[in-house]
Amino acid sequence: MSWQQTGQAAAELVLGATCPGCRCSGLGLCGRCLAAIRATRPFRAAELTGLPPVYAAGPYAGVLRDVLIAAKERSALGLLPILAERLAAALAALLLAIPSSPLPPVQLVNVPTLRARAAERGVDHTRELTRLAAVRLRRLGVAVTARPLLMIQRRPQDQSELTRDQRWRNLEGAFRARSVGSMPVVLVDDIVTTGATLAEAVRACQVAGGVVLGCVTVAATAKGGPC
Ligand SMILES: [Zn+2]
Repeated sequence: MSWQQTGQAAAELVLGATCPGCRCSGLGLCGRCLAAIRATRPFRAAELTGLPPVYAAGPYAGVLRDVLIAAKERSALGLLPILAERLAAALAALLLAIPSSPLPPVQLVNVPTLRARAAERGVDHTRELTRLAAVRLRRLGVAVTARPLLMIQRRPQDQSELTRDQRWRNLEGAFRARSVGSMPVVLVDDIVTTGATLAEAVRACQVAGGVVLGCVTVAATAKGGPC
């Protein structure tokens, strides 16, 4: 257990712990919320302009949303393994949808966090989620490697107050990719809303010569059909 996790556990003991999904008392995610997250099924997010296929582990709602927020905003790192498990399921759905057999080895490239506070703390939960998902898939015999190849070239302003069009303009040129090589790329982010961040990540990989098969996220606000 890291010092951060130890500190979090100690704080929970002092302040009173609740499940991040339903707020019932207890340490960590309760059995009912764990089952609810495991019951989510990956789906293809509605087609987003300029993006290859995007598969999400579940809709950005309910327990999945609350747990994702807790992992992100409160750096609840103990929640990352279950989220990585669902991310791995989304990636499996994407790979199965690609008409190519046998499946090629792919590299999972995480979208770097744009949240200044997280960057200052040196916590990038999407990078860690990507690493954990790759470990899980390799254990199942799927040839994937997590490679954090994207860097922030220009830090955009906070997205939260921007309109959809402003978000797209704000992100232009934000990322740069290095050493992408010839292995196909799947981009990974925690959540997709307008698709602007993923589109910028796709652009950066393609400029560096990368072949992007698709994108996977833990959650999506855009609705799509089940797969
Ligand atoms: Zn719960």
